[in-house]
Amino acid sequence: MPLNCNLPEAGAVKPFTDKPVICSGRMQPDAAADAIREGKIDFLGIGRQHLVEEDYVTKLREEKEEDIRPCISCHLGCMPISLWKNKCTFGQLGNCALNPHAGHEAQYDKIPMPSVKKNIAIVGAGIAGLEFALRATERGHNVTIYEKGHRIGGIFNEAAAFSFKEKDKELLEFYENQVKKNHINICFDTEIRDLDEIEADEYVIATGSMGPNRLSIPGSERFINAQDFIAEGCSKGEDIVIIGGGVTGCEIAYELACKGKKPVIVEVQDDILIAPGSSMANTSFLRDAFEYYHVPVYTSAKTLKADERSITIVEENGTEVCLKADVVVQSIGFKQGIPFDISKKYDNVHVIGDSAKVSNLLNAVHTAYNLAMTI
Ligand SMILES: Cc1cc2nc3c(=O)[nH]c(=O)nc-3n(C[C@H](O)[C@H](O)[C@H](O)COP(=O)(O)OP(=O)(O)OC[C@H]3O[C@@H](n4cnc5c(N)ncnc54)[C@H](O)[C@@H]3O)c2cc1C
Ligand code: SF4
Repeated sequence: MPLNCNLPEAGAVKPFTDKPVICSGRMQPDAAADAIREGKIDFLGIGRQHLVEEDYVTKLREEKEEDIRPCISCHLGCMPISLWKNKCTFGQLGNCALNPHAGHEAQYDKIPMPSVKKNIAIVGAGIAGLEFALRATERGHNVTIYEKGHRIGGIFNEAAAFSFKEKDKELLEFYENQVKKNHINICFDTEIRDLDEIEADEYVIATGSMGPNRLSIPGSERFINAQDFIAEGCSKGEDIVIIGGGVTGCEIAYELACKGKKPVIVEVQDDILIAPGSSMANTSFLRDAFEYYHVPVYTSAKTLKADERSITIVEENGTEVCLKADVVVQSIGFKQGIPFDISKKYDNVHVIGDSAKVSNLLNAVHTAYNLAMTI
């Protein structure tokens, strides 16, 4: 949904009632202030943003916008109600993916500050590494991040690249600002191959996944990974087949459909968007969007082979279908693992984020936060 998505409707109601009109739904403070000034609405309603940032209003008042952690409308924590094949599954409600403290104040506020200040080495400057660094710094520790690349945010840079993810981009800016403000030391272009290379009291492994899964079928050499396709701006080709109907594959298809391209989704399971925890607030929207944009979705379909112009799949009933494909994007998950041996001697090594379990931002932030609270 776009920012301020309900404002036109709320403004349309206003002339027909003498009751106060309150508008919520991705409302931005500037737009709300303008709308109130112009008499379109009377109040701004704020829901999810309060979960992410408990001091939201105070920070706005004090003009500390850059310290506001933005709500990214993921619903992973606050609305984890999944729906597929008409079956509803409830996760634990009342959380926030980006703020583990929300809804669990009594539990976290009891945790005492550490009595010993430690030197902590963090390997990886993705969201998990950054989140841990900020929280551990708040608790008085000295942290250093070692990052093999030359940017922060890891794979979330690609996750945030879609045109409809303006708040995800803002989240990356938030981390960038906070890292600077807290003087967190990041050694870029520094690949760690063995923990013996670093001296520290505690080691935090936040190296992310071990890369994308790949299909090995005739012609699969020409397939492009989701991450690379997104990094190139989803610009290649017109007829694009996406193998994998998980959230990432479906978001790619949505982005392409919005651009007027012709995506097709091929999923081996009997439905798309069945990742546990993904909210039906988001997945139902994608399903509706595929109908609206006439995006063909093949479920229970295996990929058999590809050539320069097409890809052949087989449906559950054995029917082979040849699909036109300038580009084939594979989006079939990532491998979990750690790029070096941590088993030999370290009892002060901790693993967080995708390197512990390939998952999502909720997992990256919560594993980082929970570890920081125990060190
Ligand atoms: C296309 C895509 C879309 C996504 N969309 C969403 C979404 O909408 N919502 C959501 O919640 N999640 C999404 N995810 C998942 C989410 O982005 C990840 O779960 C999360 O960002 C993982 O963070 P991380 O810090 O654990 O790992 P990463 O982001 O992978 O960071 C690991 C970092 O470690 C560095 N590193 C690796 N090895 C070494 C080494 N040996 N030495 C030094 N540095 C090293 C890497 O360069 C990298 O910067 C998406 C993922 C993808 C691929
Ligand atoms: S879980 Fe996601 S959508 Fe819900 S409040 Fe937190 S950031 Fe916003």
